[in-house]
Amino acid sequence: MQFPIFLQRSALLLVAALMIFTCSNARVKAFGDRDVVMINVALPAAIAAVRAYHNGQNIEKAVLQAAFGGYIMYQGFKMAPTLQEESALKAWQAKCMVNLGASLAESAGDKFVFRMDIGPVWLIAKDGDIRIKPALNAVVAPIIHLLEGSKLDFNRSFHYGTLAFKRSVTTDGTLNGSGALAYSNANNFTTNKDGMHAGHELVHTFQYRRDSMYPLRIGNFLKGFDERIGDNWVDDTAWSMNWGLQCAWADSTGRSKDFDIPMEKEAYYLEQKYRQPWR
Ligand SMILES: [Zn+2]
Repeated sequence: MQFPIFLQRSALLLVAALMIFTCSNARVKAFGDRDVVMINVALPAAIAAVRAYHNGQNIEKAVLQAAFGGYIMYQGFKMAPTLQEESALKAWQAKCMVNLGASLAESAGDKFVFRMDIGPVWLIAKDGDIRIKPALNAVVAPIIHLLEGSKLDFNRSFHYGTLAFKRSVTTDGTLNGSGALAYSNANNFTTNKDGMHAGHELVHTFQYRRDSMYPLRIGNFLKGFDERIGDNWVDDTAWSMNWGLQCAWADSTGRSKDFDIPMEKEAYYLEQKYRQPWR
């Protein structure tokens, strides 16, 4: 089988990217445009190059396609923090851009497959055929939100094209029992009843789609996992794996999981840069 080598090399690229990021952030430099472009464009292009090499495809073409997809994704990410005040049309436009960009990038050096996450399911268009499949993380996470006492917010879910939950707040404004102002889990999130901080959480839901194109998913690490879930489910566990790794890194280096990990830095950076005035 050829995928373990591809997997090893891709994993190395991811670790290298995280290390470059860590080093550049250890001192004075804050998260900036360069980091966003690296995460959205350069990394997908580098992984596409490795994939094309292993598939015996044209490397240059694959790199161009992945970089182009990454660029579209990047434009969608820039819109995320502003969507709290925008129309549903704009929110869906951003979501479609991220999904199209990620599909282009993950298909580079291979056959084009369009994949889009919508709530607990994924829409997959392949070979002129459209299939809808449930995804592991996207099904389990809403159940956790409900068990925690969050209620499904139908209006906002429809508005953003992603499952949005609401929860009562305590006197200090944090969500009851969580200590957070808002939080996300894979491609869904919980806010207060006014939907505050949805823009920030939407960045995380877009990260979920972007991460789904990496070979970090659980099926690549647990032997026999893919066979067990079969072809009827999508393995969308890459975001959680990535988040878990970043949290482990924060724990081991005495940094904050809520502010210092790359995922949070990206969300706060985009929020500060594209959502004015800061709220
Ligand atoms: Zn966050």
